[in-house]
Amino acid sequence: VRPKNKQSAGPRHSQQIQNVPHHLQKKRDELQPVRKSLPIWPQADAIKAALKKSNILVLTGETGSGKSTQVPQFLMNEPWCTKCIAITQPRRVAAISLAHRVADEMGSFMGKSPAARVGYSVRFDNATGRDTKVKFLTEGMLLQEMLRDRTMSQYSAVVVDEVHERSVNVDLILGFLRNLVAGKTRTVPLKVVVMSATADVESLVKFFGNDQSSSNSEQTLNKLTDQDTSMVSTCYVEGRQYPVKTIYLPQPTQDWVESALKLVFQIHYKEPLPGDVLVFLTGQDTIEALEKLINEYAEGMDKEVPKLLALPLFAALPQHAQQRIFQPTPYRTRRVILATNIAETSVTVSGVRFVIDCGKSKMKQFRNRLGLESLLVKPISKSAAIQRRGRAGREAPGQCYRLYTEDGYKTMEERTIPEILRCDLSQAILTMKARGIDDVLNFPFLDQPPREALEKALLQLLHLQALTDTGSISEAGEKIAKFPLTPTLGRVLVEAATSERDCLLDVIDIISALSVENVFLNLVTEERKEEAEEARRELYRREGDHLTLLVTVKRYAQEQTDRKAWCERHFVSHRAMQNVMNIRKQLQQQCVQQKLLSKDDVPSGSAPSETRSQAILACILRGFVSNTARLMPDGSYKTLLGNQTVAIHPSSVLFGRKVEAIVFNEFVFTGKAWARGVSAVQLDWVSEVVESIM
Ligand code: ADP
Repeated sequence: VRPKNKQSAGPRHSQQIQNVPHHLQKKRDELQPVRKSLPIWPQADAIKAALKKSNILVLTGETGSGKSTQVPQFLMNEPWCTKCIAITQPRRVAAISLAHRVADEMGSFMGKSPAARVGYSVRFDNATGRDTKVKFLTEGMLLQEMLRDRTMSQYSAVVVDEVHERSVNVDLILGFLRNLVAGKTRTVPLKVVVMSATADVESLVKFFGNDQSSSNSEQTLNKLTDQDTSMVSTCYVEGRQYPVKTIYLPQPTQDWVESALKLVFQIHYKEPLPGDVLVFLTGQDTIEALEKLINEYAEGMDKEVPKLLALPLFAALPQHAQQRIFQPTPYRTRRVILATNIAETSVTVSGVRFVIDCGKSKMKQFRNRLGLESLLVKPISKSAAIQRRGRAGREAPGQCYRLYTEDGYKTMEERTIPEILRCDLSQAILTMKARGIDDVLNFPFLDQPPREALEKALLQLLHLQALTDTGSISEAGEKIAKFPLTPTLGRVLVEAATSERDCLLDVIDIISALSVENVFLNLVTEERKEEAEEARRELYRREGDHLTLLVTVKRYAQEQTDRKAWCERHFVSHRAMQNVMNIRKQLQQQCVQQKLLSKDDVPSGSAPSETRSQAILACILRGFVSNTARLMPDGSYKTLLGNQTVAIHPSSVLFGRKVEAIVFNEFVFTGKAWARGVSAVQLDWVSEVVESIM
């Protein structure tokens, strides 16, 4: 029999603890000293006091100082905190792993169970229950909730984390919150905490209402906040940072996977344990390439040399694989974490002494001339490079190898340009319109996006008929905004629900498959490619990739005996298909909630008829009207809007075929412009849709 833990907490809290199973209590007690050693711990009272005094707190502190895990726990038992606390994260990995961590620290269950006090909500996965008090959400999910409940009545506080990343969604959230805090729509004020690793405190304080021109000094800010409780408090948590030695390449390199590989082994042979290596790469492709190489070379190491354990970390990685980075380093092993910029500030990996930084990241970039958005590999900014380097010095002095020259560093931008200044704004604007903001040009943006980009987005929404001719949100637009999809995919979905098309379940299958990274495995050798072609032939549809995906989802769903084996036989990613099934279920449920589907509708198992296939493609075309191209006499394809030359991507089932017109999901640029995810459509249809929007 264990002694009950009666220390510290208030009555409600201790009552909860009594019902908690032993293993949860044990974990909580083990983690207590770790919590107390965090740099933020001594500031708990100051943070509580700041929020007693003001409704808004701007909290800055180094990555790993304990902001995301501790602030909700500091606030949850405050007298004003009678309802739930929301904490937003830019990435789903962070939301999920933080929820697990905070539940462990609190000695609570996590998720849907009635006893769980901590939960999370990310796209296509809601793990919250009746008693959720601390809720981690992705920014997109909070925005969705803000549309459903304009006053955020279920929350006492909203903590906006990782503001320095300046995603479009965070900028929207800040604008909405500013209006909400300034307005008088709530009976009880909403407390807002804005947290950041590097924030420009001054501009945030100004933004939230201290409109006198404030100076940079902390003192002035505090004086201002003393005057009025609606004003902003600030707090700074100093992190622990040991010195980190920076080592540059003498000559620039293009092949940073190769350079990183050499450095990993050089460090491994030269440097004593413990000391994990964190490598910053651009994305899944480079991460998997380096992982494979490390594993191959590590096999050839002598027995006396400690082991190397390569651990990938990127957004699309399944959750259980992501959790591996939080497990302790095994005996006589050096971990090499291969990460995207997710590990820059969002996820803190312990044990790291060496950082290898390729100096690049994938960034969303809207190309105004082409009117389209693409992911491009771009040099990072100095501030990102400094963050990356900082990861090597959290627990001891460290080293940072930059895979670029010192001159290369000097040419980097000072700061990363906020996403809102460089990406497609159509989803953001639709969200604003759905929240009743008509005058988007005058919305309180932290950084005003260029007028041209706002106008382009408005035009795109008009093309999708999500807005009416007068610029207000249409009935279709209202429906689209309620789905966690881009306006383009939302449009496809809503079109499929009309009585004329009537193919919603099939379209949900296709959208689900488009929402995961890669359903079909990427094969390297020619031999394997041919084998896969043969095995997948029964799934391929001559109409193109969309119907091929549909047939794949249907066959997989029908497979009752061994889905994993089915995937192996067809060179399909089992992991991706599990995600597809999850998303499919969620979208079906959301369609039932939105009354677009009835509960009794079930997907049919058979491949679609000719007429149905045509209806499905018509829906795709309605959403992707900007991504259409026609065959030219010389055999190339040119987009109907924009007159850009594109070629069908080698991954498409239509690769090498000549059809009169195509519709496609996305442009990819590798040397030239490729259309990926392609279907063949009739030119008259395309012309008809294009004319209808002109
Ligand atoms: P900040 O928000 O200031 O970057 P966090 O609150 O995220 O700091 O992290 C505080 C500490 O908790 C870090 O040392 C981090 O390694 C640890 N931590 C955070 N999440 C997890 C997790 N899921 N598992 C294990 N440790 C974690």
